[in-house]
Order: sequence, then structure tokens, then C-alpha cells
Amino acid sequence: MHEYGIAYDIYATARRTALDHNASHVTRITVNFGKMAMINPEQVSFLFETLTVDDPMMNGAEIVCEIISPRTRCECGYEGEEIYVCPDCGKLPTLIAGKEIVVKNIEIDTGEE
Ligand SMILES: [Zn+2]
Repeated sequence: MHEYGIAYDIYATARRTALDHNASHVTRITVNFGKMAMINPEQVSFLFETLTVDDPMMNGAEIVCEIISPRTRCECGYEGEEIYVCPDCGKLPTLIAGKEIVVKNIEIDTGEE
């Protein structure tokens, strides 16, 4: 299951960041989901919860999903959101963004005010 690997990656990334910053708790993780990655963000959130339920540092951390629209570029110079046919010349444009899953921001609690 692809979603599981992604949930685990988010978990591992957030945990490493928290440890690097001597954080006591991770509160919120913002993740960019490319629309073309064909990943169900709700499924990832659910799996993430399952992964973190026994981890006091991560337990209760919220995943905020941001869906990223695809961006394509064509050799004729077109750039936009058309993914199958270039509206200017009819060729197949190249996908330059929208397929990635990226952890964009991690909010941590260091226990200091
Ligand atoms: Zn074109």
C-alpha cells in the first residue's frame, strides 16, 4: 500500500526534525499533496494516526493537507494546468509539478514559552 509508505515517511521526517530541535512534541505537520500523485490524503492521515498512537512525541499531531494542482510545460512555451493536450499546439506537455508529496512545515513544541 503506497499510502502507508508515505505516512511512514512523514512520521520519520517529523520525528527527526523534532529530535534535531530538542522538541518535546510535534503539534502539526503541513503536507503538500500533488494532485497527480493519486494519493488519498485522508488515508495517509489515518495511517499516520495509527503509526503515532503509541509515540508520546508524535501522538495527536495533526496533518494539514494542501492539495497542489498540476503544472505542465510544453516545448512550444505553454505553461499551465492542462496535463494531456497542450491548448496551444496539441502536443503532450511535460508534468513539472503536482506529482510530489512534500512535508512543507512541521510545528513543534519545545516546552519553552
Ligand atoms: Zn504546446
